[in-house]
Amino acid sequence: MRVAIAGAGLAGLSCAKYLTDAGHTPIVLESRDVLGGLVAAWKDSDGDWYETGLHAFFGAYPNMLQLLKELGIEDRLQWKEHTLIFNQPDKPGTLSRFDVPDIPSPFNVIASILRNKDMLTWEQKIRFAVGLLPAVIRGQKYVEDMDKYSFLEWLKRQGVDERVTSDVFIAACKALTFINPDEVSATILLTALNRFLQERYGSKIAFLDGSPTERLCSPMVDYITKRGGEVQLNAPLKEILLNTDGTVKGYLIRGLNGAEDEVFTADVYVSAMSVDPLKVMLPKPWKQMEFFQKLEGLEGVPVINLHLWFDRKLTEIDHLLFSRSPLLSVYADMSNTCREYANPNRSMLELVLAPAKDWIAKSDEEIVAATIAELEKLFPDHFGGDNPATLLKSHVVKTPRSVYKATPGRQQYRPAQVTPIGNFYLAGSYTMQRYLGSMEGAVLSGKLTAQAISEALPVANSSNLQTLTRPPATNAATA
Ligand SMILES: Cc1cc2nc3c(=O)[nH]c(=O)nc-3n(C[C@H](O)[C@H](O)[C@H](O)COP(=O)(O)OP(=O)(O)OC[C@H]3O[C@@H](n4cnc5c(N)ncnc54)[C@H](O)[C@@H]3O)c2cc1C
Repeated sequence: MRVAIAGAGLAGLSCAKYLTDAGHTPIVLESRDVLGGLVAAWKDSDGDWYETGLHAFFGAYPNMLQLLKELGIEDRLQWKEHTLIFNQPDKPGTLSRFDVPDIPSPFNVIASILRNKDMLTWEQKIRFAVGLLPAVIRGQKYVEDMDKYSFLEWLKRQGVDERVTSDVFIAACKALTFINPDEVSATILLTALNRFLQERYGSKIAFLDGSPTERLCSPMVDYITKRGGEVQLNAPLKEILLNTDGTVKGYLIRGLNGAEDEVFTADVYVSAMSVDPLKVMLPKPWKQMEFFQKLEGLEGVPVINLHLWFDRKLTEIDHLLFSRSPLLSVYADMSNTCREYANPNRSMLELVLAPAKDWIAKSDEEIVAATIAELEKLFPDHFGGDNPATLLKSHVVKTPRSVYKATPGRQQYRPAQVTPIGNFYLAGSYTMQRYLGSMEGAVLSGKLTAQAISEALPVANSSNLQTLTRPPATNAATA
């Protein structure tokens, strides 16, 4: 059965991969000339890679890890020491670590918190642990119910001191969602904390050994094409064409460079575009349907990813760092963390600037200058004095609409992969799955979509598509 998938981000590629496993023929149609969507990367004229985002993989990403295994590329993840490392703004240049010992969960995470003496007092630790109890005991249902509160409101309701927020959770919220604790839904942080508390290696971090486009997306494309599928770049979906009964008749693909638009037909259609372009493209009759109207409650959040190459080594740390800077979120010296970007003499810092709403319209020069000013606090030894580090070059990648903005109340707007339209499905990290707006969420969503298609239309029955009917869509998607 031919399945047309719009979007070659991780969700679209994962959907195609699992469809080929089920014996279907997916054709992925990507608007840009690069694979990966939010994990896309490019090589500059010097041969240096720059990326849409600094991407960390976690031990608590079972579907991503399984996918890498199935592709035979799990050795491309470079696992780091089991620790979380934070800068200390009040002591410039110093770090505070949460070292996670190799003992069963949740004792390993609890031990890491108890052993950290820099960031929390005993009273704060105990209050936070007590506050977290309902999430641990009552599980995911409680976590979902907390979507009505921002994480800051939730902390206050649990009687947790504000310093815990400023010390630990501003950094965590910015890293996970690119917004601050007063804006982010409590469900997000509680979901991540639950995973970290329940899985021994859940909070262990890995980096890919090169660019995601080359090291992760290309192997997915090879897998898909070897099994009869296709991935086409420069094939932007312009319009979803409908039959008189409201089902999809075809995808109208915009002709580039003066070429004519083309109608692409298949047996089943998937949107693996992010939510913002999908909303723009919804056919008029669908806009009346509650399922699609809910998408109006979702929109992408702005974020900026910077790459700064310096004339010297700024640090030997081979890990993700939480900057705890008002301007920046996480960063890493990719010359240490990533095999393909390795350089023993010079640092390449990759930094996420978030929240980015006040910066997204500014020039690259302004953004780089503000970031360098922050680096003076993170690396005072290299930016003060007579011989400060010299910036050799930089790349700034702005994404005005990235993952869905995870403010309180968004869970109810996240759609199931199965839609009320008989031959139309959704994939994307914004769709309902338990891993939120992440790479794991994208891969899982694609897998769920492929499963739903295969269940509705087993390959043996694929000639019988015209009789397809669909029960009302549900949010039943779970990992
Ligand atoms: C700065 C940054 C840092 C991040 N850090 C992490 C991290 O450390 N860990 C983590 O797990 N996640 C991280 N993420 C999130 C992660 O990248 C995303 O959740 C995931 O990649 C989303 O995949 P997706 O396939 O759902 O959507 P997208 O990647 O948005 O894919 C959608 C695709 O659809 C295509 N498309 C759009 N319109 C059309 C059209 N008209 N026709 C055809 N195609 C179209 C797009 O070009 C794109 O390729 C980060 C994201 C960013 C931006």
